[in-house]
Amino acid sequence: MWFAIVLSALAMTGIVAARYALASGAFALATSRRRPGLYDRLGKQIGREIRWSLVSAAIYGIPAGVVAWGWQERGWTRIYTEWTALPLWYLPVSLLIYLFAHDSWFYWTHRLMHRPRLFRIAHAVHHASRPPTAWAAMSFHPIEAVTGAVVIPLLVFLVPVHVAVLALVLTIMTVMGVTNHMGWEMFPARFVHSPLGKWLITASHHHVHHQAYNCNYGLYFRFWDRLCQTDRGLSAP
Ligand SMILES: [Zn+2]
Ligand SMILES: [Zn+2]
Repeated sequence: MWFAIVLSALAMTGIVAARYALASGAFALATSRRRPGLYDRLGKQIGREIRWSLVSAAIYGIPAGVVAWGWQERGWTRIYTEWTALPLWYLPVSLLIYLFAHDSWFYWTHRLMHRPRLFRIAHAVHHASRPPTAWAAMSFHPIEAVTGAVVIPLLVFLVPVHVAVLALVLTIMTVMGVTNHMGWEMFPARFVHSPLGKWLITASHHHVHHQAYNCNYGLYFRFWDRLCQTDRGLSAP
């Protein structure tokens, strides 16, 4: 049993690392096409971002691997595979619940990470990326990586989710994590400034966090930032 759990954790670490390399690599390539020269002279920083991100991949991979094993072998979690096991309207609802729960957790732990002591010990690693690049998506100190790694593995025990919706959550998490750091806005201005876009976080929003530090803490939605008056609007990265 223990051998299977370790194997699952190792496999998941490999998957998370590969997912990071593919997503960050693809958007770094897109950056070199769309904003040639943007990452010039950032070679040393990118090396650091990749090293911290690979450590984070293991920290994310271990709980994910244990839970994946328990799901397959012990029937843990509330992940379901039959489309009709729950009403179809629940599919988009569960997507929103997962994103909102993750966003809320991120907002408050992120604000905690900006308390001086925790910032010095842990979060300074993420903010060493100035300006961040597509490779900074998982560039976290291990303490911060742990706070991020436990969210989805805990949520799957609490909130029922179809396996395809879960895959979509992980895809959104990966793509937004990379693109929010890549230094330029990939969404059209028309969308970013639309009534819906005004509630969503994209690179124009998170870039301001990396410039000013004490604002724009959110992950997907501007809900908490607006409610707590920490929203300082958009930059034009
Ligand atoms: Zn960031
Ligand atoms: Zn921060």
